[in-house]
Formats: sequence, structure tokens, C-alpha cells
Amino acid sequence: MATNTSMLHDLPPLPAYTLVPRPPLIAGIPDNILTLILPVVAYWTVSMLFHLIDVYDLFSHYRLHTPAEVLARNRVSRWDVVKDVVLQHAIQTLAGLMMAYFDGQEYVGREEYDVAVWARRIRFLQRGLPYLLALFGLDASGVAANLSQNGHKILAGALAGGHYPGITQSIISETGFETAVPAFTAWEMSLANFIYWYFIPGLQFLWGICVVDTWQYFLHRAMHMNRWLYVKFHSRHHRLYVPYAFGALYNHPVEGFLLDTAGTGIAFLTSGMTHRQSMWFFTLSTIKTVDDHCGYAFPWDPFQHLTSNNAAYHDIHHQSWGIKTNFSQPFFIFWDRLFNTQWKGEVKLRYERSREASEKQVDGGMQQEPYAHTSVAPTQPARDAAIVSTEESSERITRARLRKKTANLSPSVDSLKGVNHGVASSVL
Ligand SMILES: [Zn+2]
Ligand SMILES: [Zn+2]
Repeated sequence: MATNTSMLHDLPPLPAYTLVPRPPLIAGIPDNILTLILPVVAYWTVSMLFHLIDVYDLFSHYRLHTPAEVLARNRVSRWDVVKDVVLQHAIQTLAGLMMAYFDGQEYVGREEYDVAVWARRIRFLQRGLPYLLALFGLDASGVAANLSQNGHKILAGALAGGHYPGITQSIISETGFETAVPAFTAWEMSLANFIYWYFIPGLQFLWGICVVDTWQYFLHRAMHMNRWLYVKFHSRHHRLYVPYAFGALYNHPVEGFLLDTAGTGIAFLTSGMTHRQSMWFFTLSTIKTVDDHCGYAFPWDPFQHLTSNNAAYHDIHHQSWGIKTNFSQPFFIFWDRLFNTQWKGEVKLRYERSREASEKQVDGGMQQEPYAHTSVAPTQPARDAAIVSTEESSERITRARLRKKTANLSPSVDSLKGVNHGVASSVL
């Protein structure tokens, strides 16, 4: 009998449960499919928000680069960027659909039981307290008796090894009689609830972040260390010397799959997250990647301050002089710190020079060979030379107009952002 067994162990019984299939968050769309849709929606929503900020020249004093630089230095048209991002989204969605095929049904209904299991573990841990106190020469039962007499019954129960004779609950036993059995204390239940609902999901999230950061650092670094990998795949992402939000996933499809899709997929599979959790994880990872390429150093953007990596940090990696540093992405920079690949040099003058050169180039009507002034990374292949499409011409006119609007603001960029062009001091 369950009741007798519980009494035997002096442990509160675990509640019964019934499993039922988890209803989808949005009726008609299974959660594992919604998990694939949300990151794509988030990518374009957040990107378009940054694009509007860009087009309407809002917050120009937080720009990392002037619009003139976007014109003069980037080696790919916005339209080509859109095409490659759409392809990457198609590949990641297809990979996700293949994974979803093997997904089992998720069930709910066991939450109370699982919380009670944690409460029992807490109770078991208390069993060790008297032995721990004995190591310090303290008599746990004596201390507990004293505390109990002074009204501290819960603390006394914990010190006595998790014995709470006064805390009981009534249950109907299998024989149909109402009987009193031990119960968990309020603090045990609160702690168990915290562990189950917040601590474990938090650890899973942290694990996912560590996997993605580690995966991306080593693969990204390898793409720069191995000439063939760089020329064949990664150089495409570096056609954006002046990143903008929707260029975040502008990659060679192979690189996009390896770095982003596979990395986050492995993070999900090894973390034990539910589909609901993975919705948050995939969507927030996507927003972070977009934010890291947004081209603005905002003081009020939480994605730029909650972790050590941000747009200003990653922007250095997109510059020809910083391309062999700052490989970490998208959350933390511990791998750069550990392997000494973090950019440590001066940045303010370099950014200033780049701004001035681009403005001269745009003012001169782009007469010179486009991008000729830009020092190209040693590994940059010749075929990566300027790609200037006709559609870009009209875009240039618009951008030149924008540049003129912000031209008088750009000198104040540095003063507003401090000596490191807006890079938080903790980052450099
Ligand atoms: Zn790179
Ligand atoms: Zn990038």
C-alpha cells in the first residue's frame, strides 16, 4: 500500500498523474513547426525595424558607420543579400522539418509529480544535515530540540534531518480510509517549484548558449585559419564590411547550415529542452544574431548589454583590420579571451579614417574604382571584387542623400560613444 510505504520511509507520498498530449500554443500549428516559423518571423521583423531606423535616419548618432560607408565599402547588393538569407531560411526550415519527423509527442500532466520528486530530493538532502553538524562537533538533535522549544519548528525539523512530525496531510488510502501522512513543508515546495520551473530551464538555456558559442567560435575561427574554407565559404559573409541587420545570415548556404542550423540544432538536442523552450531559444538566438549585425551601438538595447558580445564587438570582426580577431558569436566572448583572439588595438582612429575615406569617395561621385581604398583582408579572393549592380545605383542615390543628412552628425559619433566608438569598455 502506498500509504504504508510512505509511512515506512517517513516521506510524503508522490501525487498521481495522468499524461495528456500537450495542446499546441497556436491551434492548428504543432509546436515543433511553430518553432521553425518563429525565428524566420523574428529575423525579418527585427531586421525591418532596424531597416526603418536606417532608412528614416533615426538615432544616427548611434551608428557605427555612416551611410556613405555602406555605399562605398560593401561588396554585395542588398537584393543579393535578401536572396541568400531566404535560401538559408529555406535550408534551416527543411532541416527542422526533417528533425520534426522524428519528434515524439510531448505530454503534460506530470508537472506536480515532478515538482514533488524535487521536494523529495530536498528532503533526502536534509537527512545528511545531522552528520554534517556532527563533523563540527554539534549535536543536531539537541540543537533541534532547543530550536523547537523556542518556536522555530521548521528550522528544527530541517536540522534534525528533515523530520517534521507536525506537518501532515490527509489522503484516501487504497482501502478507502482517510489517513494522515507526512507532507512537504512550504519552503520545500517553494524551492522545488523554483528548481523545476526556473533553475533547470535556466541551466538548459545556459547549456544551449555554451554549445552555440563553442560551436560557432571554433568553426568560425577555422573558416578564417583555413584559406580554402575562407575562400570557398566564409568570404561571402565578409562582403559586408559594413553589416546591417538583415545581412546577419548572409552566408554561403553550406556555412549557414554548418554554423547556424547545425550549431543550434545540436544545442537543442543536447540540452533536453521542450519545444516550448526551444521556441524561445531559437527565436532569441536569431534576434541576437540580427542585433549583432545591426550597425548601431544602442545604450538601451538589452541584446547589446545582457551578454558580453554585441554589434560593436562583432563589427570589428567585419573590418579588414579586425577580421582575424573577435571570432566569438553570438552570446559571450569567453573563447576569444581564452585563446587571445580578442581585438585589443585602437579603434577610434580606424573608424574615423574609414568614415572620411568613404565620404570623400561618395562626394567624388564614386569616380574611383569602388572599394579600391578599402584594405582587403589578405585572404580575400580576387573574385570578391566589387559587385555593383544597376539596382544598387538608385539605392546609392538614396543613401548619398541620407549620408548628407547625417554628415554633420558623424563627427559627434565618437564623442557620444566614448573613446571606443561605442564599444562598451567591458567588451574591449
Ligand atoms: Zn568571419
Ligand atoms: Zn558577421
